[in-house]
Amino acid sequence: MLKRYKKLAAGYRYLLLFGWIYSATAAETERSITHLAGDVYRFQNDAHYSVFMVTPEGVIATDPISPEAAQWLNREIQSRFGQPVKYVLYSHDHWDHVSGGAAFNEATIVAHANAVPHIETSDYPIELPDITFTNEFTLTLGGKSVHLYYLGHSHSDNLIYMVFPDAGVLFGVDAISVNRLPFQDMVGTDIDGVIGSISALEQMDVAIVAPGHGEVGSLADLAAHREYLEKLKEQVGTRMREGKSLERIKAEVTMSEYSHWGSYGGWQQPNVEGMYNYLIAQ
Ligand SMILES: [Zn+2]
Repeated sequence: MLKRYKKLAAGYRYLLLFGWIYSATAAETERSITHLAGDVYRFQNDAHYSVFMVTPEGVIATDPISPEAAQWLNREIQSRFGQPVKYVLYSHDHWDHVSGGAAFNEATIVAHANAVPHIETSDYPIELPDITFTNEFTLTLGGKSVHLYYLGHSHSDNLIYMVFPDAGVLFGVDAISVNRLPFQDMVGTDIDGVIGSISALEQMDVAIVAPGHGEVGSLADLAAHREYLEKLKEQVGTRMREGKSLERIKAEVTMSEYSHWGSYGGWQQPNVEGMYNYLIAQ
């Protein structure tokens, strides 16, 4: 009986320890601002990133990420640059990128028109945009511009790319990543739309690619991401045409030349399954 009690007590201490570690890490959100190029900076909130551009007439921010993140960013921009945030540009409607825009109370919010119905029915604190567009939109403030492009359905029906031409920076979220596999099983993604969007981005005059997750890279990294999707599509598609089962295809398509990429261990098999499901639905 005593032995059993000791075991239980040890287990309880173990739980307490893990609870403490978990709450300590949960409380310490990692936030930072790093300089990318020219007047463009990258904002980190744990695994989420956005960018902003400083001009003499105010700041153009992008994804607010969350209410707490946006409040922190607003204060940092005010204290470091002495400028208010005049615009907030949404990458797409997903709550984990665009919640919290109310923190920028002077800002005009810009988004793709298709984002509106998603935001109107969202349960999250997402501000509706003041300005919407459908294909392209150029915003100029304090002599600096940002070009917004909608390149068709990809990760969502309203995902846009933002190019800051003076700094040569491209900001794009969720459909692109650098040295990292696509997210899990890519559910809801128009994979050919992603491939087409990246091909269009590769033609742009951009030196730095700043994704919404993970590391910063270049257009060559985007091309590698596109090639990964093309190879995956080809390898899964060939085996489907040969009548192989999903289980067999998952065993055969290992994409091992990408084993050094981030999330290979966790997402390679879901990527195969996602591609299979995508191709079945075509
Ligand atoms: Zn998303």
